Amino acid sequence: MTKILLIYTGGTIGMIKNPLTGELESFNFKHIHDHVPELSRLNVHIESISFDEPIDSSEMNLSHWKMMSKLVAENYSLYDGFVILHGSDTMAFSASALSFMLQGLKKPVVFTGSQLPIGTIRTDGKENLITAIEIAGMKDENGEAILQEVAVYFEYSLYRGNRSSKISANQFEAFQSPNYPELAKAGIHIEWQKDRLFRSKLPQLTVFTELQNQVALIRLYPGMNFEVYESIFKDARVKAIVLETYGSGNAPSDRHFQKMVTDFIENGGIVLNITQCGSGAVQQGIYQTSSFFERVGVISGRNLTSEAALTKLMYLLGSTDEKTLKESVQVSLVGEMD
Ligand code: ASP
Repeated sequence: MTKILLIYTGGTIGMIKNPLTGELESFNFKHIHDHVPELSRLNVHIESISFDEPIDSSEMNLSHWKMMSKLVAENYSLYDGFVILHGSDTMAFSASALSFMLQGLKKPVVFTGSQLPIGTIRTDGKENLITAIEIAGMKDENGEAILQEVAVYFEYSLYRGNRSSKISANQFEAFQSPNYPELAKAGIHIEWQKDRLFRSKLPQLTVFTELQNQVALIRLYPGMNFEVYESIFKDARVKAIVLETYGSGNAPSDRHFQKMVTDFIENGGIVLNITQCGSGAVQQGIYQTSSFFERVGVISGRNLTSEAALTKLMYLLGSTDEKTLKESVQVSLVGEMD
């Protein structure tokens, strides 16, 4: 029988309303079958493991990503697939991070969660959980896992983890993958788009847990006071900056801003240019307002999401030297950009 490990990190999905106080509380995840009796009707053997203290995903940090990666790695040979239950707020960050930390996957790691707690009548959590488990257990005609990467399943759609973003705080369709089409759609059957699935060239699972968070994210906006940001560009702890620029990678021609960027790069810093548009890619040099970036060595992040850009830099800062980092940041490592 197919074996799936459920890893419960916290979030709305694992909560029920306390009838006395009316407040949402995490339930003991060992009792998941009591709340979702349908699980025992799936033809899958499910075991679960929970963070000692389940968290709202706003609390997520590098140590939690390390914990999740280790749980997958330690149990890798024992299960056919992994489903990580996670708050939706930062799920796209965690899915992006784990895609860099767990390379060479030959088994599925599916993140899911819900907008309404599993104990409420109109919950989206049951469908998300049940289908995520089904997807994590699916094999092809050769007996190999169909999905061999980190993905996010939410409201009938399966997305590549490092391409996904949370786009709604209140719709059940809370996620999108604007620069890469869905990997599968759940209808009566799971409709796979097999040509879109990622396949790693690594022969086996290779785990990277040493992330470094010496990164900063700066989003440009008209009227920005660049002096306020000077301390970030001058801070020796900051090794890389993700710049969220306009349109296809454009920025104002402010001298002060350009000097900060130039000095930061000359002192060995990395500046990665991504667009603040919901979809599309950076193409430096198309407009005069982005030619400066090209001249001083700002790296184009092409169509990376900010979640993937930040976690890719954290992974590279923790696992490579400066020269390799500069090369690796420009290529797609785990299907995170075109
Ligand atoms: N605040 C919650 C979290 O991200 C929301 C959710 O679970 O969807 O943990």
